[in-house]
Amino acid sequence: MRGAIALAAILLLPEGGPAGPVPPNAAVDPGPPGSPPSDAVVLFDGKDLSRWRSRNGEPGWEVKDGVLTVAPGKGDLITRDAFGDIQLHLEWRIPAGVTGEGESRGNSGIKLHEAYEIQILDSYGKTEKPLTAAGALYKQAAPLVNVCRKPGEWQVFDIVFRAPRFDGGALKKHGTVTVFQNGVLIHDRATIQGRTNSTQPVKPDLEQPFFLQDHGSTVSFRNIWVRKLEPLL
Ligand code: MG
Repeated sequence: MRGAIALAAILLLPEGGPAGPVPPNAAVDPGPPGSPPSDAVVLFDGKDLSRWRSRNGEPGWEVKDGVLTVAPGKGDLITRDAFGDIQLHLEWRIPAGVTGEGESRGNSGIKLHEAYEIQILDSYGKTEKPLTAAGALYKQAAPLVNVCRKPGEWQVFDIVFRAPRFDGGALKKHGTVTVFQNGVLIHDRATIQGRTNSTQPVKPDLEQPFFLQDHGSTVSFRNIWVRKLEPLL
């Protein structure tokens, strides 16, 4: 009887699909594996920091052999462009032989809208304190699994950032992050509760820069690109 009811429910489901005509979709050339797709905004391709600035002006981080490395004390590296909803690809490396403990061990991060941090840290083999580990939406959402590689090895973040929506100064819709680390899902639309390291207000602008954090560790980066996303309906 229960099976019959379930079957009836399935049969009553309306046929899916959009009500109106669907426009043709855009063609995007994905390029070879590891390269930016044709509709990406390339922010760092190994050559220069023309798409970046520091808080005081020109960026002071080192570019060598196609790799960008934090220059401790030179401050955060901020995008010159502002972004709303994006797909962000970025590769990062904790220095081999990193020293220090806890959050002093190879710390950097990606601060979306200069307010919401996806943590970068040496968390290889460390499953305690996941709220501040690599991949955490800092102190708000722990990565679903620890998929970290060893210091000295390149790691990959693919982030889908849906920016918070404000109506004037009032939050209308929380932002979310979906993150793959090294190809493995670590956040599935995790809700952004607010600024990740304080209770200070955030800016309501839909499009804002993001920055890479100078936390005093010589963390390296390469192959950084974004795709601007259409808002969800
Ligand atoms: Mg950090």
